[in-house]
Amino acid sequence: MSARLAVVGGGVIGSMIAWRAARNGWRTTLHAPDIDGAGTSVAGGMLGCAGEGRPGEDALLEFALAARDRWPALLADLEGSGVDTADIMVAADTLLVAADSSDSGHLRAVIDHLAAFDMRPEPVDRNRMRSAAAMLGSGVRRGYLASGEGAVDNRALLAAVRCGAHSAGVTVTTEKFCRIDDLDADQVVVATGSWAPDLIEGAPVTAEKGEILRLSRPPSAPPPPDVVVRARWRGRSVYVVPRRDGVVVGATQYEAGDRADTAPRVGGVSDLLIDATELMPGLAEYRVAEIGSGLRPTTPDGLPLVGRCDDRTVVAVGHGRNGILTAPLTAEIVVDLLDAAPSPPTSPWVARLDPRRFA
Ligand SMILES: Cc1cc2nc3c(=O)[nH]c(=O)nc-3n(C[C@H](O)[C@H](O)[C@H](O)COP(=O)(O)OP(=O)(O)OC[C@H]3O[C@@H](n4cnc5c(N)ncnc54)[C@H](O)[C@@H]3O)c2cc1C
Repeated sequence: MSARLAVVGGGVIGSMIAWRAARNGWRTTLHAPDIDGAGTSVAGGMLGCAGEGRPGEDALLEFALAARDRWPALLADLEGSGVDTADIMVAADTLLVAADSSDSGHLRAVIDHLAAFDMRPEPVDRNRMRSAAAMLGSGVRRGYLASGEGAVDNRALLAAVRCGAHSAGVTVTTEKFCRIDDLDADQVVVATGSWAPDLIEGAPVTAEKGEILRLSRPPSAPPPPDVVVRARWRGRSVYVVPRRDGVVVGATQYEAGDRADTAPRVGGVSDLLIDATELMPGLAEYRVAEIGSGLRPTTPDGLPLVGRCDDRTVVAVGHGRNGILTAPLTAEIVVDLLDAAPSPPTSPWVARLDPRRFA
């Protein structure tokens, strides 16, 4: 009889771990209650590396690059499990742009920093920018194309992973657990994102809130861009991610004082609308389909906490602003850890992501 695994948390991290573990023979239950503010369903879905590269966050960028390499195999595996992946990828490249000279200086510093990681987004002229994103306004001053840095529809991704999990025999419940000891399983994986401290006492995870918009395109409006557009716009950041029927515009980022306060703030929404319609004036013709906000589970050094807490419990939380991108690599590390026990796991990331590194 195979061993029983309980995965707590049905976001992208928990769902992907449950699917992978079940494929490897674990008798898996995924505990996936619906809690307001979960990051997976609100995210922009960018698989961002160059767009997320910030001086001082080298380890995070290395983790993001390693995760990006897992995506082709992930999509192939989902297809191999009979899951339709046609709606998952929504863009293949990212255009990084800046507005005024101060924004251009900021973007230039990021581009220089990326060279140390052998990433060289290509400078592009106005014509090239407009052929990828016809709606770009005249305020755009500088642009670089990060080829191969795409985006997924996060909701389609979660649905596909859940479908794969179902085919692999995962049982899904909506039960919310308050104590790990109450779970009837041989091994437990805690993947509760921003709610990690509720189950793992003292887990160094805080929540960063973000507003995000979904705009739908009426037939008369210009089409969405072919690429992700990430802008440094008059000192703020804004991005536009294509969807089949419109775009996602995101996102604000600030510390969430209270995790229960998931209502979008008027100021955040208005900043996004102002910046996005200056960046792409044609978006003014789109319809506001959804105003959302969610929580990014954040750790003191920006890297997630992935690893063993004790003989029965593994944790996979704290994926910050990159959890969609890094989910496949996280699932690989966790399932390797579960399968290898009692031998040590093989992934070189295990030591760097050790959940006890702040103790
Ligand atoms: C506005 C915004 C935009 C973002 N854009 C991007 C992006 O473009 N690209 C990217 O890679 N990342 C992005 N992110 C980050 C990404 O969404 C998160 O890193 C990711 O969702 C983390 O996944 P998770 O499964 O750990 O957590 P979540 O998605 O938050 O899921 C945690 C789950 O745990 C469940 N849970 C909580 N407590 C319990 C309990 N006691 N028992 C059972 N279940 C419980 C919750 O119901 C929830 O479903 C964005 C986040 C935000 C907020």
